[in-house]
Amino acid sequence: MMLIPTHHFRDIERKPEYLQPEKCVPPPHPGPVGTMWFIRDGCGIACAIVTWFLVLYAEFVVLFVMLIPSRDYVYSVINGIVFNLLAFLALASHCRAMLTDPGAVPKGNATKEFIESLQLKPGQVVYKCPKCCSIKPDRAHHCSVCKRCIRKMDHHCPWVNNCVGENNQKYFVLFTMYIALISLHALIMVGFHFLHCFEEDWTKCSSFSPPTTVILLILLCFEGLLFLIFTSVMFGTQVHSICTDETGIERLKRKHQPRERRASWKSVKETFGGDFSPNWFNPFSRPCDPEPLSDRDWVRQVASLSDMDNTETTEEQSEERKDEDSVEVIDE
Ligand SMILES: [Zn+2]
Ligand SMILES: [Zn+2]
Repeated sequence: MMLIPTHHFRDIERKPEYLQPEKCVPPPHPGPVGTMWFIRDGCGIACAIVTWFLVLYAEFVVLFVMLIPSRDYVYSVINGIVFNLLAFLALASHCRAMLTDPGAVPKGNATKEFIESLQLKPGQVVYKCPKCCSIKPDRAHHCSVCKRCIRKMDHHCPWVNNCVGENNQKYFVLFTMYIALISLHALIMVGFHFLHCFEEDWTKCSSFSPPTTVILLILLCFEGLLFLIFTSVMFGTQVHSICTDETGIERLKRKHQPRERRASWKSVKETFGGDFSPNWFNPFSRPCDPEPLSDRDWVRQVASLSDMDNTETTEEQSEERKDEDSVEVIDE
């Protein structure tokens, strides 16, 4: 075989024929705009149903075991309103986190035409996801459950049956916060109830029999403690992620891929939707719209061109690279 000078390889490899784009065709039915986002994952759907069931169980015990039988009317009304409001906000945040597109990259956009239209310059690469055939912008990762590349993916959470990403992180943070708050509130009420019942006649404490009442309250205690610990840790981790502008995945990869971060306040404002206001805590108010992706966002700069040159010395190596799509189009 004839050896061709290195720079020729570079020219050849820049031609899209070598990028195997024929494998990538846009999805046949893109779906009408505004279609509801919902992940059809059995495990995730089961976890989401369990979450709702546990909140409704707490609701039942708080109302029918503790508040309604209580003779202190003011105590019951105030605690009933606070608990129900927090539970409603928790479930609303759960729905929003589950049914909001977390920031999916258009599927199958790694087409020949699209890559050509980006007009890559020397030192520029695009990262192609071999699983969903999309071009990954910076900070996007592929989720094997959602089967999509998600912008600023933090993790896939089965409890909300969705990825936590750029567009729904606010709802996820609110969900963990409200669940932690109702858990704490329920625990405090159980504590008061036990104290009150030990002082008074136990049989007048609840409309259920004493053994049933104790079992229901102890189960609520376990549930409250478990959820309080789990969701407050999650809430803390998420707030830390937002303040440091670093997703869970990026934290794991930090040593290999150091990157520039934005100021923490800017990141917090973008996640929760503008300047500080009560809307930050409202699951019905949307976070800031992410900036639409421009051509520039799909293309990434290679750190050092010489790294690429050094490996392109022989024809065989170049042939290998060609198969891996590794010069312009990098499978991640
Ligand atoms: Zn992907
Ligand atoms: Zn996912």
